[in-house]
Amino acid sequence: MTERNIEKHGMQPGDNPGPDGRFGRHGGRFVPETLIPALEELAEIYQDQINNPSFQKTLQHHLTSYVGRPTPLTRARRLERELGAKVYFKREDLTHTGAHKINNTLGQVLLARRMGRKRIIAETGAGQHGVATATAAALFGLECIVYMGQEDIERQRLNVFRMELLGATVVPVQSGSQTLKDAINEAIRDWVTNVDDSYYVIGSVVGPHPYPVMVRDFQRIVGDEARSQLQSEEGRLPDFVVACVGGGSNAMGTFYPFVRDRNVRLVGVEAGGQGLDNMRHSASLTAGDPGVLHGAMTYLLQDEDGQIIPAHSVSAGLDYPGVGPEHAFWKDADRVEYVTADDADALQGFAWLAETEGIIPALEPAHAIGHLKNLPLHEIDGEALILVCLSGRGDKDVAQVARLTTEEEIDYEL
Ligand SMILES: *Cc1c(COP(=O)(O)O)cnc(C)c1O
Repeated sequence: MTERNIEKHGMQPGDNPGPDGRFGRHGGRFVPETLIPALEELAEIYQDQINNPSFQKTLQHHLTSYVGRPTPLTRARRLERELGAKVYFKREDLTHTGAHKINNTLGQVLLARRMGRKRIIAETGAGQHGVATATAAALFGLECIVYMGQEDIERQRLNVFRMELLGATVVPVQSGSQTLKDAINEAIRDWVTNVDDSYYVIGSVVGPHPYPVMVRDFQRIVGDEARSQLQSEEGRLPDFVVACVGGGSNAMGTFYPFVRDRNVRLVGVEAGGQGLDNMRHSASLTAGDPGVLHGAMTYLLQDEDGQIIPAHSVSAGLDYPGVGPEHAFWKDADRVEYVTADDADALQGFAWLAETEGIIPALEPAHAIGHLKNLPLHEIDGEALILVCLSGRGDKDVAQVARLTTEEEIDYEL
């Protein structure tokens, strides 16, 4: 009934979902019955805390003194000359731990603390969300358990070691394909069993309600800061806002404060991998179909039987077969243009930013950078103004790029 109401009243991009967590036909709560009360409690406490001045004050304090916010907005003057438009990068690469993920894990771990939970659960694919969660858990002295597929553990030894240094326990998951979706199942199983003393930290704007809303609210600081910084620098709104989309949290955080400004074109760049034809990609919005994953209805990479197809991308952080349900709604509502950049575009974007601006980006935002040359700049009157979310730094990717672009084996790892 609620879904019909939403349609009748015409939910608009930027509107919050009702208590059922539906963004149009997407979102919701597709979880075991035993988790419903926990999710309802979480939604309630979250609403309470996010409007609570003392929670906000504590969060702001740690964002400033620990994460290093506000992050700068950097004008890319040399890249601009080659592109023929004015470009600013929002520098999430300069946060503590070097990516936007810490904005969310810090917020959620603070919430867990307010709820009196002593045990933090997370799952991780490439390990970046695991590291960001372990970091926040260490800051507050909470136990931290991270589920990770055996395959991923072998591929990401350095991040496993990082999490262990930070005091977390990494639990190998040997079921199924031994990757992220199996780790998610294990994390949910743990949470069902230990729901009274444990808190499950989800790493992107995905999962059952209220996670997509919570993660969006913790990440919107990226767009809020950028909007006001751009206002000081240029005195106007951007023509384009561009961000890469994996689960969708850096894009959501950057886009959300602009979503009601209809003249601002929002461009979400998915990983086209080795091409959309051969299914070796991560473009769930561009090439997927609606289905249920990780507790929510959204666009997914799936075969005709509804089996999840493993995602592929040169960047491990975009390698997720689903996407946040609010993005799925924004796609249906035609508010955001979702496009793809393939592995080669990303490698080009990676080298381009390094050479023109002296900034080595993570391979994830390198997709957004690689797409800049394909923006329809001619559709803008006068010089176009572009805001790009630089979601993370590229140190973690240097060895891989060396392997892919040179003959040399450079052993930067461990
Ligand atoms: C994890 C990650 C991403 C992808 O996740 P989103 O939820 O889509 O933001 C993008 N960039 C970096 C640097 C990441 O670590």
